[in-house]
Amino acid sequence: MGSVIDYFACPNCGQDAFSDFYYKTGEEYVHCSHCGYHHTAEIVNRNKPLNKLITEDWKFTTITNPYGAFKLRFKGDNAATCGSMRTEKEWNRYKAAVLSSEANNEIDHFSLSRYVDGVFHYFVYNGTDFLEVIESTDTQELSES
Ligand SMILES: [Zn+2]
Repeated sequence: MGSVIDYFACPNCGQDAFSDFYYKTGEEYVHCSHCGYHHTAEIVNRNKPLNKLITEDWKFTTITNPYGAFKLRFKGDNAATCGSMRTEKEWNRYKAAVLSSEANNEIDHFSLSRYVDGVFHYFVYNGTDFLEVIESTDTQELSES
């Protein structure tokens, strides 16, 4: 299926967000891995020709004020699972489900990126807990300290 991949400034945090637009169907998948901003337009009823689709045949999901963006990859996998969390409760539930699963010792990377009041917070799982990692890309700040 043909799609156009594009990057644009995230309307929530201003970082690069990812857009995958399927021009043949009009379906779209938008995700920001920095803050969790998320938008999808997908066809849920595949039994009709495209020009016969009505609103009810589509599913639209938009998360404009997310709790954060997660990334999960298991050992041996090339691709990571990425997604958005709407609330802290949702994140805690997901985190608990992953960490209590049979595959929990196969976790290669598990992190959460949040954008709160203009500041990015990045949490990485170290095998026992999630630690906040400060990633400074501002060389000015580093040379002054
Ligand atoms: Zn964002």
